[in-house]
Amino acid sequence: MAGRDLETLCLGVDLGGTNLRCALVAEDGVIVERHSLATDIGSGREAFLDRLVAHLLELKHGAQKRGRQVSAAGLGVPGLFSNDGVLRSSVNLVALEGVNLAQEVARRVGVPTIALNDANASAVGEQRYGAGRPFASSLMVTLGTGVGAGLILDGRLWTGIDGVAAEFGHVTVEPEGRRCGCGNRGCLEQYASASAIAALAAEANVAPLSGRLDAAAVAARARQGCPKALGVYRRAGSYLGIALASVVNLLNLEAVVLGGGVAESFGLLAEALHREIRERAFPIPAERVRVLKGVLGDDAGILGAAATAYAVAAARPAPR
Ligand SMILES: [Zn+2]
Repeated sequence: MAGRDLETLCLGVDLGGTNLRCALVAEDGVIVERHSLATDIGSGREAFLDRLVAHLLELKHGAQKRGRQVSAAGLGVPGLFSNDGVLRSSVNLVALEGVNLAQEVARRVGVPTIALNDANASAVGEQRYGAGRPFASSLMVTLGTGVGAGLILDGRLWTGIDGVAAEFGHVTVEPEGRRCGCGNRGCLEQYASASAIAALAAEANVAPLSGRLDAAAVAARARQGCPKALGVYRRAGSYLGIALASVVNLLNLEAVVLGGGVAESFGLLAEALHREIRERAFPIPAERVRVLKGVLGDDAGILGAAATAYAVAAARPAPR
């Protein structure tokens, strides 16, 4: 048993709209080797798949050179998967819609492969190797370009009957609020994502920093004491808290883990966020829930994808 642990590695892939990260990961979460490159989905579906497969094969050969075997691969992908593994919709990777990525990779790389939503992968990563480790039930919220989430209940990822659960970013926080790409209006994502923070700051005439007004620049302005920038973050924290208060009442979770670029500014969100939870949720679950910053940063997705791959490998006969 111990021998098998030493001999096998898994591939973890974090496939983003901009960056493609692939890594060879040991079962304890140590990244043995990694490749980071541009996703470049503009080159087309076939060219992209060829490149992905080439990098995975190179990592697989790297494992063999180390005398190790790759037992499975996990792919974290921004989009909705149906239970048959087909990518049903992906705003950032439209060219891959309708493709069964796991099947393609399994066939061409020669290892069992599983694909899952990227926010779910990050949730598994933090649960297995990061801030979520001490907790059996947690919600991981990724505040990036959009707002993604993954729900861990009793140690297991909850994906819902159709595989599309935990779309926390599209919880309504403002009934007549801003239009969202999903078709609804007033979604949390329209107030607490990095792109929303940049848009709201521009509308509030927050002064750009070195010509930029992205979420990080707005955070820097807030730390300088700019009241408008502070207001944008306070509002984001407040909407996040409103949405979380409902989750806390519904699920009585042990923890909420915040990841993604905006979570770097946790201090600017925290006060309003905690106030809303305290004021809106019942005291018992509100006092129980811990709201923490993730600790794995950009590696949460790769590590969670790899952890999911290890689970797939464990469910199958051990490799020769
Ligand atoms: Zn929405």
